[in-house]
Amino acid sequence: MVSASGWRSWLGWLLALWLLSTLGFGWLLRSLAVLLALLVLLPVVALGLGRWWLQANLITDACPVCHGEFTASRHSSVHCPHCGETLTVEGRRFTRYTPPGTIEVEVQAIE
Ligand SMILES: [Zn+2]
Repeated sequence: MVSASGWRSWLGWLLALWLLSTLGFGWLLRSLAVLLALLVLLPVVALGLGRWWLQANLITDACPVCHGEFTASRHSSVHCPHCGETLTVEGRRFTRYTPPGTIEVEVQAIE
């Protein structure tokens, strides 16, 4: 329910808007509307960009050693907070860090 005084203030606003637009203040209203739209849109865009950045730079995956899940930045050396293992990021997954010179042997079952 909207009270009578509420309607009256709305009518007052509408009248003021109509007067402003008919008196040639349309450009002012338009710029105000654009400003308002910007004020509303900017946080949304910033939030979206921030989320995109986080998604592009943060990775959540399970540790290949202890299987504990954690989130880490893509561009730094990663240490598992659960077991302390040094990990590297490959694609969007954590892999065990192998120091240079270590030959990785993949275990394959021979059928
Ligand atoms: Zn771990």
